[in-house]
Amino acid sequence: MSKGEGSPGVAAGEWEAVIGLEIHVQLRTRQKLFCADSARFGDEPNTNVCPVCLGLPGALPTVNREAVDLAVRTALAFGCDVHEASVFARKNYFYPDLPKGYQISQFERPLATGGRFLVEMEDGSREVRIRRIHMEEDAGKSLHDRVEGSTAIDLNRAGTPLIELVSEPDLRGASETRAYLQQVKQVLEYLDVSDCNMEEGSLRVDANVSIRPPGADVLGTKTELKNMNSFSNVEKALMVEIERQTALTNRGGSVEHLTLLWDEGKAEVRPMRTKEESHDYRYFPEPDLPALLVPAEQIERTRAGLPELPRPRRERFEREYGLPPYDAQVLTSSRGIADYFEAVAGEVEDPKQASNWVMGPVLALAKERAQDIGDFPVSPSELVGLLDLVEDGTISQNVGKDVLRTMLEEGRSADRVVAEQGLTQVRDGDQLERWIRDVLEANPDEVRRFRAGESRLQGFFMGQIMKASKGKADPAEVSRLLSRSLKGPAS
Ligand code: ADP
Ligand code: MG
Repeated sequence: MSKGEGSPGVAAGEWEAVIGLEIHVQLRTRQKLFCADSARFGDEPNTNVCPVCLGLPGALPTVNREAVDLAVRTALAFGCDVHEASVFARKNYFYPDLPKGYQISQFERPLATGGRFLVEMEDGSREVRIRRIHMEEDAGKSLHDRVEGSTAIDLNRAGTPLIELVSEPDLRGASETRAYLQQVKQVLEYLDVSDCNMEEGSLRVDANVSIRPPGADVLGTKTELKNMNSFSNVEKALMVEIERQTALTNRGGSVEHLTLLWDEGKAEVRPMRTKEESHDYRYFPEPDLPALLVPAEQIERTRAGLPELPRPRRERFEREYGLPPYDAQVLTSSRGIADYFEAVAGEVEDPKQASNWVMGPVLALAKERAQDIGDFPVSPSELVGLLDLVEDGTISQNVGKDVLRTMLEEGRSADRVVAEQGLTQVRDGDQLERWIRDVLEANPDEVRRFRAGESRLQGFFMGQIMKASKGKADPAEVSRLLSRSLKGPAS
């Protein structure tokens, strides 16, 4: 099924796209969900396996409470009701990477239900209801490029803990869906429940999509899209599939209930299989595990321990620090950046100055070095040391930026860099006057043109004087003295 198969006359707005997502999130635990093997990514294949995750007869699973804690934390952050008792169920199917022949999941009684999530977009917001969040184990992985001519199986991933977060079909388009995914990921990162690395498969998205006349209250037949390994691929796959369904329907055809694979190279969707129904899986309660019990007091303890989430934190940044919405948004884009900013802002006079420095030089340098802000070598208190020197006029903003780079490269404090390199800003009038006089004398033409009305030359003089002072002249003071000199008789 290729892109653009459709009839040319598809009128825009004729159909409304309806989308519901199933997001699998790998939980950041040390051990697997039902055994003590390491859940680490990237180890030598088939080294983290044991009778339980290999499905050897007689091996018995026990539940990893660390995984349950992370799942509960996530469910609460998404506004779900966490159930004090839920039930693990066997989902039976055959696949080479599934040694047991079934996956332990949850079906009729999931861990949590009934949440909601507000997606914010430039032109408004959309409430997405969260149908359920349940726990399950992952399957192994088929490796198609490790052994020439064969498929190899790595069972290290078999049994690692996942949650599946299922939304109601409340999203209405491809770009809205992408925004939802980005914001869900941001929350998961704030919660520190997963590393959310899509390339390593710790966040996987299946997208269900149908079309219907706008405002209709029945749902059309949906297809399910798989195999998108980035948010932009989810968006592209949805666009292609919405176009395919639209064209097909406009030709009088009807959408079939299919599972489709996204082919990134060809930018098209391909049928993988007809969609299985839940009865195909012969779900039944897992006989080797008791009901999963999460006592009410544990739920309340977890709720009380939830971190401040991105939106409330952004709103607080605007309120508490008087920051513009843009600043607050950038600074809360990750929890690490927000923590760094707050550690700085708490120690300086002017939070807006802290914001400018963190959003500007700090994030730029961290990005240049491909470094997470948490690993940024200049700590918040060291940055405060630098900002104090800027704030009290010892150095200028621009010199400050160079000092920051030196601090980063050489691991020295702002005070030491400024002292050792003799960078202290010059405000002494006599010295400033000397620089100004030298520059005006060296540029008589420009002085004449300035006096004839070419006032934009002021910037040229400022630049020359700052250069003559090697950036050390106090720009405000220079500007004041310069205007005076230029007004007076030629020196
Ligand atoms: P299935 O039984 O095929 O797995 P579910 O009802 O369990 O379908 O829903 C799975 C996901 O598909 C959910 O995220 C849900 O919101 C979404 N979904 C269900 N029906 C539709 C539809 N007609 N159009 C778009 N998404 C849908
Ligand atoms: Mg389903």
